[in-house]
Amino acid sequence: MSRCMFRSHSAKSSSEMGFFDGKVVIVTGSSSGIGRATAALFSKAGAKVTITGRKPAALAETKALCLKSGAKEGDIVELIGDVTDEIFLEKLVNETVKKFGTVDVLVNNAGAASFDSTGKQGIDQPVTAFDHMLNVNVRSVIRLSQLALPYLEKTKGAIVNVSSIGAHPIHTSEAYYAAAKACLDQMTVQMAGDLIKKGVRVNGVNPGPVKTNFVVTAGLSKELQDQMFYAMSSDNIPLGRMGQPEDIGKVILFLADRSQSEVIIGQRIVADCGVLMKNAVLSGL
Ligand code: NDP
Repeated sequence: MSRCMFRSHSAKSSSEMGFFDGKVVIVTGSSSGIGRATAALFSKAGAKVTITGRKPAALAETKALCLKSGAKEGDIVELIGDVTDEIFLEKLVNETVKKFGTVDVLVNNAGAASFDSTGKQGIDQPVTAFDHMLNVNVRSVIRLSQLALPYLEKTKGAIVNVSSIGAHPIHTSEAYYAAAKACLDQMTVQMAGDLIKKGVRVNGVNPGPVKTNFVVTAGLSKELQDQMFYAMSSDNIPLGRMGQPEDIGKVILFLADRSQSEVIIGQRIVADCGVLMKNAVLSGL
């Protein structure tokens, strides 16, 4: 009986123990939020995981969570660095392969918004902010995927890109971030078309509001982040709550698990607690 058939009877989910036994996963941006929760879910499901971010203390917290979720000490590689640094991206793949032998799944989750501490919004922000958005949210994804591809091709692996509902053509205060994520969505489709010929599946997930450290990571204060969370009252969100990092992590594991989602290729799955739908209704679309 195939693994897939067996699973359809056992009704277990991808995040349950064993689904990724021995698989090798790189999760960028795993020192916080969605990436941290995703790394822990992969650990729980038996994977060997490379975790990464720029903040050593935060990354150590992720490692502790992975160990608590079932990983053994030797199942985790921890690498500190910036995804806009090409040498660091090479190190990410090389160190992962040196330790674990290959790569089965690449989760391109590291990302950042262009909130401006002076309060400038949209195209009032300097164009250098746009360059940064493209570097962090798109260029790093393309380059890391290129570097991991020789291994993913051998393992018939998967890439999951973390985008945003900001990628949809709706007006936001974050023009450069929204445009960068829209570009990432386009890259997801283009990469999917190219790489499926090599047996590698590429998909994306577009979260709506998720309770993470995103605003602080982008350089604004914790107080402002709390205010933003408060403003997103349950009345504004059809589900009645914001997303939690694990909600998005589960979607990522589903898209990474060939036995669950083999026929899904080049898709961007909106996981937004109903927010986009509500906007569509309000604007009469
Ligand atoms: P967090 O700020 O909690 O996590 C972001 C992660 O990305 C951190 O681990 C951070 O690491 C890492 N990161 C950011 N910039 C860099 C960089 N230049 N080099 C290396 N690592 C970097 O936010 P989220 O978990 O919310 O964000 C994860 C993804 O989800 C992002 O792509 C974001 O765009 C997307 N998203 C989030 C939404 C939300 O509401 N939270 C909504 C829609 C999409 P460190 O700080 O250690 O460098």
